[in-house]
Amino acid sequence: MRFRAVHASLALTLLLPGPAAGQPGSEPRPPSPDSVLGFEIGSDRRLADWDEITGYLGLLARSSPRVRVDTLGETTLGRPFVALTISSAANLRRLDRFLEIQRKLADPRRVASEVEAEELIKEGRVAVLITGGIHSTEVGGYQVPMRIAYRLAAGEDEETRRILDRVILLLVPSLNPDGSQLVVDWYERTLGAAWEGASPPFLYHHYVGHDNNRDWYAFTQKETRLAVTRLHNVWHPQIVHDIHQMGSQGPRFFIPPWIDPIEPNVDPLLVAGINALGTAMAWELYGQGKRGIVVNAIYDAWTPARAYQHYHAGVRILTETASARLATPIEVPFDSLDVRRGVDPREPSWRFPDPWPGGVWRLADIVDYMESGALALLQQAALYRERWLRNFYLVGLRAIGGREGWPRAYIIPAEGQNPDGLADLLRILVTGDVEVRRAGEAFVHHGRRFAAGTYVVSMAQPYSAFAKTLLEVQRYPALEEYPGGPLRPPYDVTAHTLPLLMGVEVVASDELPETRLSEPIGVPVHEKVAPGLSGRAGSPRVAIYEPWVPSMDAGWTRWILDEYGIGYHRLRDAEARAGGLRSRFDVIILPDMSPRPMIEGHAEGSMPPEYVGGLGAAGVRGLEEFVQAGGTLVAFNRASTLPIERFGLPLTDVLAGLERSQFYVPGSILRLNLTRGHWLAAGVPTRGAAWFERGPAFEVQPGGEDRVEIVGRFGPSDGLLLSGWISGGERLARRGAIAIVKHGQGRVILFAFRPQYRGQTIATYPLIFNVLRNSLEAASAKGASGSAGEGA
Ligand SMILES: [Zn+2]
Repeated sequence: MRFRAVHASLALTLLLPGPAAGQPGSEPRPPSPDSVLGFEIGSDRRLADWDEITGYLGLLARSSPRVRVDTLGETTLGRPFVALTISSAANLRRLDRFLEIQRKLADPRRVASEVEAEELIKEGRVAVLITGGIHSTEVGGYQVPMRIAYRLAAGEDEETRRILDRVILLLVPSLNPDGSQLVVDWYERTLGAAWEGASPPFLYHHYVGHDNNRDWYAFTQKETRLAVTRLHNVWHPQIVHDIHQMGSQGPRFFIPPWIDPIEPNVDPLLVAGINALGTAMAWELYGQGKRGIVVNAIYDAWTPARAYQHYHAGVRILTETASARLATPIEVPFDSLDVRRGVDPREPSWRFPDPWPGGVWRLADIVDYMESGALALLQQAALYRERWLRNFYLVGLRAIGGREGWPRAYIIPAEGQNPDGLADLLRILVTGDVEVRRAGEAFVHHGRRFAAGTYVVSMAQPYSAFAKTLLEVQRYPALEEYPGGPLRPPYDVTAHTLPLLMGVEVVASDELPETRLSEPIGVPVHEKVAPGLSGRAGSPRVAIYEPWVPSMDAGWTRWILDEYGIGYHRLRDAEARAGGLRSRFDVIILPDMSPRPMIEGHAEGSMPPEYVGGLGAAGVRGLEEFVQAGGTLVAFNRASTLPIERFGLPLTDVLAGLERSQFYVPGSILRLNLTRGHWLAAGVPTRGAAWFERGPAFEVQPGGEDRVEIVGRFGPSDGLLLSGWISGGERLARRGAIAIVKHGQGRVILFAFRPQYRGQTIATYPLIFNVLRNSLEAASAKGASGSAGEGA
């Protein structure tokens, strides 16, 4: 544990009475961040770590009647996950009343009349949630909350008073405290080295790295669940502002409007609110003399994975500030600014009226833009308090009335489903504040009989849009760059249809079934078990390769095995290079990653020596010897090309070298047909679905037939796309999706897709478990040096 000078000064401040503390009628003066930390926030090469951030914020709360701090729970690695509530002292004394108003306006079924609604709107406050620090290398995001909090705690100007009177601000200084601590520790290690300010060689969220901001509907991670269940679902904020950073070479600051496409279930009033608020913020910042602000660029609003609030009557304002090298300044000459996703940072336009002239860019600039952005947002929230509340109420009112052209209900049979998938789908809906009820008896609906216990989601409820977007099929629109031009590639993945991902049947209906329904259910209690594997955490014979170029897919794979209680070892480059892997492991998994970063790793001089270089030739040889000696090597998605190319397997990736204009699937759900009765396919529907995202597709080379078994193929052209977007699908149709290739005494099992995508593809988990089980059983039957199993 480090010991820093600031801790001493913090302790001192705690011991000494404040200048006016304890005297009636006067408030203690809130301490400024620099008086506690010993440096100005935004100083070059200085970052406050998580202990210092929470230490300062605690002190601020103790010295200001405008600030309250709560620990909402523990992070993945056991740190406190904290949130501040900031408002006028008078508002904070009546917090329960304002909470009650929020609850009522959020669900108009609780409001007796329009008269009552207007009274609530008159009395209420706008709830604004501001979150920082989800992405830990975007360091300004967890430094600036201290400045925002201090400004609101100490400000006596009219603007600050208006914000405090009309707004209840929920401020989360970091959505990922573990990562904030890890990156600050890492950064301090790099100071003065050739690699000062480099990104760390590990994931900044223990399991999912940057994907922690893709978890806003699956809620797989503790931090997401804390934010959703303890803040969103309690306060139903009208405005949510998430503070991020982007690359260094583009505009200085991004604010919505989003670019198209907007996911069609987002209420149009929210879209209009985002447009108005975002452009007003940009206007305010331009008025302060800031330059290089872009709106309506780069980021779309398609996936709910980044936008819980869009389905819960709140607007999402993302801001992205240009980055330095962590807290180290950089020089960005004007001529070095470059075009990214259609934005030219050197050319003015309606959405980018005043380009930034280039120069030195430092953390001080970053936190300055961030703070101004947050205050501009709070200013707008305060100015239009009533409008935000009224629109919020209207969105709820429209939802409970049932929107035109929408189903009236979703029916989810309780029987004949993938049990893990059903439990998880229900967990997601209920955690997302969707009311799910159960039928008390069997019923017949549109000629089909449903058993007692069937789940029913009526769409006449406030958050029906959340249920609808997750239960229906996505049809991502093909947007052209210009009429007749090339298709504009999506910003993110394009599909999120839970029934397909989780192997659960869900029936949309234009009528609510006529049957007696229960009260809304809670989150189902369900233990995930992989028979023969769960509980074998002790001496792992399974290894997950984890490179020093951080792999989110490796992290997700670890998360899934941990969820099921399956033991594993994290295999590092040095171990692979040292060889002798067969005596230690029966199965090695290569997560989704292209071969080059796995083999080459970080370049010399870019990292401390222990993180430099990847598998290298020796590591690849170590893996091949492991297979030849009877081991099973499993490769997910892009990693498949490593053994294909480096071991000379008799397979061709038919998609290799294709241009985006010839073939492109940015993240979609495709038909997967499996070989009936094959051991690897047990527990998965023969006609199933696979998550495809930049994967390969296999063809057996002539003469390779006796070594290769194709266990699964992608569907035919006309039935290939199940949800999302695909172009050039005929190139993938009927190609191999899973291949088992004999190599020496062992085998390589290749997946052309991600069977464990972001902890959501429960339908294809059994494919992984079957491989592990088959390999471990074969090994224990033959002894550790025996060859891999071939069936059974
Ligand atoms: Zn980010």
